[in-house]
Amino acid sequence: MAELKLDDVTKRFGDGGDDIIAVDDASLDVADGEFLVLVGPSGCGKSTTLRMIAGLESVSSGTISLDGTTINDRQPADRDIAMVFQSYALYPHMTVRENMSFGLEESTEMPDDEIRDQVESAAEMMGIEQLLDRTPSELSGGQQQRVALGRAIVRSPAVFLMDEPLSNLDAKLRSQMRTELQRMQEDLGVTTVYVTHDQTEAMTMGDRIAILDDGRLQQVATPLEAYHEPANRFVAGFIGEPSMNFFEMDVENGHLVGENFDYPLSEGTRRDLGDATDVTLGVRPEDIELVDAVEGDGEHDFRTVVDVVEPVGSGNNVYLAFEGDESVSELDMDESRTFVATIGGLRRIEAGQPAIARLPEDAIHLFDGETGEALH
Ligand code: ATP
Repeated sequence: MAELKLDDVTKRFGDGGDDIIAVDDASLDVADGEFLVLVGPSGCGKSTTLRMIAGLESVSSGTISLDGTTINDRQPADRDIAMVFQSYALYPHMTVRENMSFGLEESTEMPDDEIRDQVESAAEMMGIEQLLDRTPSELSGGQQQRVALGRAIVRSPAVFLMDEPLSNLDAKLRSQMRTELQRMQEDLGVTTVYVTHDQTEAMTMGDRIAILDDGRLQQVATPLEAYHEPANRFVAGFIGEPSMNFFEMDVENGHLVGENFDYPLSEGTRRDLGDATDVTLGVRPEDIELVDAVEGDGEHDFRTVVDVVEPVGSGNNVYLAFEGDESVSELDMDESRTFVATIGGLRRIEAGQPAIARLPEDAIHLFDGETGEALH
């Protein structure tokens, strides 16, 4: 069992009035064997959270516990936690075997032959058996990362903490290592907290993801929940590629009224809005359809002009501007005024052509214009 729990954890740096609050009142429960990904933009407090769990940074207030026991004051070496860093942090003068066995030799009474067996089985798991006698300078970046992971496995800790462990690898190796890491974690069943700023990595790897912005946890959910039911506008914009489109709208007589279009709402959606008067309409690029003119006179169909077409292999990202939007033609399609639709298949779409965009009501998200909280 290794259940990791954060209760109202805050980290302040500095001791004056202008403290930096790096982590603000974070509460998080990581279940035994779970792979939890902590994701958010640069500077949001991911590494600080991880470093507090590892014991490399003190906690300003709140508690961190492992299986119900508070570990706030425990030394890093006594926490039964192994951390893997982006920089690998291997000892350059030691061989791979020495790098992997060092921790065990220092911290346990384990006999040498048992250490050797543990190192060899971890090396086999990471596919680096042939590299045991080399030093880190004789290895590629990908191999070094495997050694760093192998070293964490050898200790069979209660918890793995990983801080952007794949970000120094090229794209192909990164996606291969993602799968391997997930398999390894599943086989070992070790509770894992994995930090990344990459939402694709978070979505593909996490049993659940914890989305952090400006020191505050925004939502903790499965990847699909975060995608389909984002708790607020920040999460909605952060998860998904290309990002969700947002339009600022006023609520008037059961319609959303915006600068470029008027969007009638059904009874059910109106109820969800309560008495909000100012909302943000969000729609994912993949939920927008381009329909034919004959068909395109529904109340959620809008006339647009294609600005830019970006091929993405399986289809196109089509940037659209509302037809008749004067500011767009004046500024020669100012890109801040366009929105994007992802259209699958080989359909031929060219810049300058008119297109009717359908924003289906069952796919839209509505957020409070002031707080950003999800309303629908
Ligand atoms: P990145 O993805 O860029 O590594 P992050 O999400 O991991 O960012 P942190 O490194 O946790 O973010 O930093 C959170 C905030 O705390 C930032 O504003 C950072 O400048 C600040 N911070 C981190 N460490 C310290 C420190 N030792 N002293 C003062 N401020 C710090």
